[in-house]
Amino acid sequence: MPDAPAYGALFDRLQRSAFRSRFHLGQQEREYALKQGAEVLRSHAEDFVRKRLAPACIPGDGRQTPMRGHPVFVAQHACACCCRSCLAKWHGIPAGRELSQEQQDSIVSLLMAWIGKEMSMPAPAARQDRARRRKAAEAFQLSLLDGD
Ligand SMILES: [Zn+2]
Repeated sequence: MPDAPAYGALFDRLQRSAFRSRFHLGQQEREYALKQGAEVLRSHAEDFVRKRLAPACIPGDGRQTPMRGHPVFVAQHACACCCRSCLAKWHGIPAGRELSQEQQDSIVSLLMAWIGKEMSMPAPAARQDRARRRKAAEAFQLSLLDGD
């Protein structure tokens, strides 16, 4: 896994995956991230990676990371760090072997970089869609008043 400055190429690759690029922080996950701060999030990421990814043998591998509910979970799916088979496929880290501390640290850094990038982008599309829909509905109502 590359060092921080090289994440650009990896993020580009992930962005080209229809599945990976679908993952974004929702409003609640953003608020949670802001409330907790980077340091707390990092400690959660370290914990999740240590308990759910690092062991050599993980029963039910592929199902250990929820799709939402915590910014780190979302980051794990977006970055293909959700399970050992994704780590193997995307990052060339073989399954069936315990992750070294160094590997765990680089996964955590990647997840935190993704969260940082995500937090620097505008609010979730769903929200903007809602606002757009509301505006469209209002415009429609006005057109009804106008029209005859
Ligand atoms: Zn996975």
